[in-house]
Amino acid sequence: MNTYWNIPEIPHKGWNLEYVYDIREEGESVDETDYETCMMCNNERIRFVHVVSHKAFSQELKVGCVCAEKMTSDYVNPKKQEQRLRHKAQRRINWLRKEWKASKNGNLFVKVKDHLVVIFRDKRTKKFRCKIGEFYGKKQFETIKLAKLAAFEGIEYFKKKDMW
Ligand SMILES: [Zn+2]
Repeated sequence: MNTYWNIPEIPHKGWNLEYVYDIREEGESVDETDYETCMMCNNERIRFVHVVSHKAFSQELKVGCVCAEKMTSDYVNPKKQEQRLRHKAQRRINWLRKEWKASKNGNLFVKVKDHLVVIFRDKRTKKFRCKIGEFYGKKQFETIKLAKLAAFEGIEYFKKKDMW
């Protein structure tokens, strides 16, 4: 098969790992997911896309873990980042499975550690918003699920900043 690995003009080494993302970011289930194809080998079906760049090549490439390791000569971080996203995805699944309670005025709430997370409707737009502890999210969402996912991302952010 003709792949980028066979094209001498495309550098095989010296790539930098920019970032890794999970194509299932929005909390979709397996069968809803269209996997990406590794641009380097055309072979790997990838859920965790490793974006790599090279100073002698104008384009960033989206590749799988195996190719990312070879291209960056780094056999630790591509896997580590993928693992981090895998754990986050599991936390997201657990989060969506949580049992939320309804308050008297119809808001949904759940208690996480000592923080109250609330999904409520914006009075004006009737769309859903979330409140994490004392922090009101500015974004508005069409569905409760999207608001819950946003709350999840908010909590992840607070954790990263040690504000949780
Ligand atoms: Zn590949």
